[in-house]
Amino acid sequence: MQLKFCGAAGTVTGSSHFLTLDNGFKILLDCGMYQGNEPEYLNFNRTFLFSPHEIDVLILSHAHIDHCGKLPKLVADGFNGRIYSTPATRDLTALLLLDSAHIQERESEFTNRNADKDEEESMPLYTAEDVAKTMEVFQSFAYNQWFNVHPDVDVLLKDSGHILGSASITLRIKRHGLPDIFIGFTADIGRPQRPILRDPDPMPPCDYLICESTYGNRLHEAAPEEKQRLLRIIKQTCIEQKGKLIIPAFSVGRTQEVVYMINQLVNENQLQDIPVFVDSPLAFNATRIFLLHPECFDKDILKYMITDPDPFGFNDLKYVRTAEDSKKINNMHGCVVISAAGMINAGRVKHHVFNAIEHPENTILIVGYAAENTPGGKLRRGDKTIRLFGKELYVNARIERMESFSAHGDYKEMTTYLRSHDKNKLRKIFLVHGDREALNTFKNHLISEEFMSVEIPKFGETSELG
Ligand SMILES: [Zn+2]
Repeated sequence: MQLKFCGAAGTVTGSSHFLTLDNGFKILLDCGMYQGNEPEYLNFNRTFLFSPHEIDVLILSHAHIDHCGKLPKLVADGFNGRIYSTPATRDLTALLLLDSAHIQERESEFTNRNADKDEEESMPLYTAEDVAKTMEVFQSFAYNQWFNVHPDVDVLLKDSGHILGSASITLRIKRHGLPDIFIGFTADIGRPQRPILRDPDPMPPCDYLICESTYGNRLHEAAPEEKQRLLRIIKQTCIEQKGKLIIPAFSVGRTQEVVYMINQLVNENQLQDIPVFVDSPLAFNATRIFLLHPECFDKDILKYMITDPDPFGFNDLKYVRTAEDSKKINNMHGCVVISAAGMINAGRVKHHVFNAIEHPENTILIVGYAAENTPGGKLRRGDKTIRLFGKELYVNARIERMESFSAHGDYKEMTTYLRSHDKNKLRKIFLVHGDREALNTFKNHLISEEFMSVEIPKFGETSELG
C-alpha cells in the first residue's frame, strides 16, 4: 500500500493525499487549491502528480477551497469516480466552487481585455459549467456511519468541528487473512467550545494518521468574555463615538459566528437599535446553507433556536445583496458592517475600510487570520498606514483584534484531539498542512508526548504502508 503526498506537504494549502491499495484501488483524499504566490507552487493549481482518470474515488473532508478547490479541474481532466462527503460539505462546496469559478472567469476576461496581442490567452482553471458537472458525482453520507466505497474499503466521517460539515476521514482497509488496517486523515481540526459547531469528535484509533499542523507552534488566547468585549466595542464605536464598526470576516463560518453573537446580545436586550449590515452576497447564501444543516449544530444553538428559530437574523440586521445598496452604507454612521474578505485584500470590505480608516470615530475589528502582506495583516501588526486602491491611507480609526475566533485548534487542542489514538497501535503520524516552523515545532511536541514515529513528508514523496 502506498501513500503519496500530492499537496499541502511542507506548506499550508493545496490539500491532496493519494492512497494506492495493494489491489490497485486508488483513493484521493481532498483535492485543494494552493493559495499563495510562492514561485515554486505557481504551477501546482494547473497540474496533478497523477492522472485524474486513474483515481477510483475521492473523499472530501470539508468545503474550504484549499481542500476542494481543484475538484472541477480533476473532473474536467478525466476523473470518473464518485466524490464522498457529508451533506453540508456538498452544499457549501457547490457554493464556494461556483464563487471560485466566477472569480477566475472574471479575472481571465479582465486580463485578456488588457493584454497585448502576442500574449498568451489567460484561461480560468475551470468554469461554472465544470462545477456543475462536478456536483453531479457527489454522494453524501452523514457523520458516524461506516459506508463502503469498495468491497475492501469502509469509510467513516466524524465531525471535526472546523467549519459546517467538516469531517475527519477514517479508512478501514480489509486484508484477507490479516488484521484490518486503519488509515486516518484529520483534515483541519476545529476547536472545543466554539459557537454554532460541536466540539471536534475523536477519531477511531488508527495505524497511520495524516495530521494537520497549521497552528503547530501557536496557542490561542482564552476568551471567556468575548461576547461582552464585542458589546463594549459596538457601544463605544456606534453609540459613544457615533462611528462605524467594520468587521472584515470570511463569508463562511466567521460571519455566521459574529451575527449569532450579536443576535444573542439583541435578544438579551443588551443591544438595541444599532443597524447591522452583512455586506457579502456569498455570506448571504452561505447563511442559508447553515440553516439547512442543523445536524451540524451544537446543543446550545439548537436550544437557542426553540425561542429564536433564526439565529442569523433579527430586526436591525440587513443582508446587503446589490452593489448599489452597499454604496449607501458609505454615508451611514452608528452602524456595524460585517463584510468579506477577511484579509481586506478583495471584496466589498475594501471599499468600507477605504472610506472609514482615516476617521478616528470608526473602528476596524480584526476577527480572523490575515496573511502578513495583506491589508488585514498590516492592520493586525499595527502599521500606521495601509495602501488600498493605489492610495496610501493613514490609520486613524481604532484597530481592535479578537483572536479567539480561530477555526483551527492550537497545538494543545490538537494534541488533546489526538488522544483517542492508541500510541502502541499508531505506527506513524505524517504531518502536513503547516509552514516549516509549525511542522517542526509540532513534530517535536508530539515526540515529547510519546507518539512513536512522526514524519514530515515532502511534496511528491511516497511512503510505503503495510
Ligand atoms: Zn479548512
